[in-house]
Amino acid sequence: MRMAVHRERTKRIYVGDVPIGANAPVSIQSMTNTVTVDVQATTKQIRSLEIAGCDLVRVSIPDQDSLAAFVKIKEQVNIPVIADIHFDHRIAIGAMEAGADGIRINPGNIGSKQKVAQIAQVAIERKIPIRVGVNLGSIKKGLLEQFAPDRVAALVESARQHVTLLEDLGVGAIKVSLKSSDVIETIETYRRFASICAWPLHLGVTEAGTLFSGAIRSAVGIGVLLFEGIGDTLRVSLSDDPVKEVFAGRVLLESLGLRSEGVHVIACPMCARANADISTIALELEDALSHIKEHLIVAVMGCAVNGPGEARQADMGVACDKNGAVLFVHGKAMKRIEVSEIVSTILEQIQKETSR
Ligand code: SF4
Repeated sequence: MRMAVHRERTKRIYVGDVPIGANAPVSIQSMTNTVTVDVQATTKQIRSLEIAGCDLVRVSIPDQDSLAAFVKIKEQVNIPVIADIHFDHRIAIGAMEAGADGIRINPGNIGSKQKVAQIAQVAIERKIPIRVGVNLGSIKKGLLEQFAPDRVAALVESARQHVTLLEDLGVGAIKVSLKSSDVIETIETYRRFASICAWPLHLGVTEAGTLFSGAIRSAVGIGVLLFEGIGDTLRVSLSDDPVKEVFAGRVLLESLGLRSEGVHVIACPMCARANADISTIALELEDALSHIKEHLIVAVMGCAVNGPGEARQADMGVACDKNGAVLFVHGKAMKRIEVSEIVSTILEQIQKETSR
């Protein structure tokens, strides 16, 4: 029997039409890394993210030119777009007027309470949620000193103060992130904050790193929290193509049984018995199938030791042997194929399954 992850109940908010919190499916976010003023490149990247399964995308708006570009970008994309704003409350207001589905601010760097209040008023009028993003890199020095050496307490207190400020201003839809680049510190911070706050939480390990190390750090940090029932939306931050962030998020959620979308490619690690380059075949398949929303398990196995067993249990799979490979579909051995035909045969088979 599979153990189900118990999710803590949080309040429900909506970013555009995407529900967050109160047991809504954990949504996957990413962030564009194009220059926002390049409308064409940013729009293209958002479309690629959408095809990859991204639920929400964040775009930074550092200046007025980016705000002008944001207006055009917003008109050309389908998934909800969150405007990421620092320092300038007028840009936050402009982004909401331009149709942003959510804004992410750090109230601590917006300036005076009056400026935060102006943002809050527009957010309330337009029913736009605000993400309070607290980051260890930008936390108030005074708080760090007050709670030293407990940096977790400083992060939690900083988020608590910002959330209280927005609540006092009447904001009715808030989500919160509390990020550190240290995985253990991130886990502890979210745990403590989840025990005092019912707004939905956006999970992430900030500045997680490059594809390999960043994905592992994020999987550990976000994975532990989700397994404990903490977290409502996530971003796997990678110094790489944001589409890979979405893919990593999908794998993470699927591993915890929290989402079952997309193709899960099971591939053997290869040993001296391998009769084909399983790694290259599996990567080609993952790449070609990354847009598929249906949940399918595809096994690519190198030899007869575990190959037929895994391939039989998957929706479809191949078990290689000295004479090529045997294709299995829903548990039945269908036909013998050449190793060079594995990718095309599986793609063809998936095409048939998904177009039914
Ligand atoms: S399936 Fe075969 S080739 Fe692959 S790791 Fe196992 S024994 Fe080795």
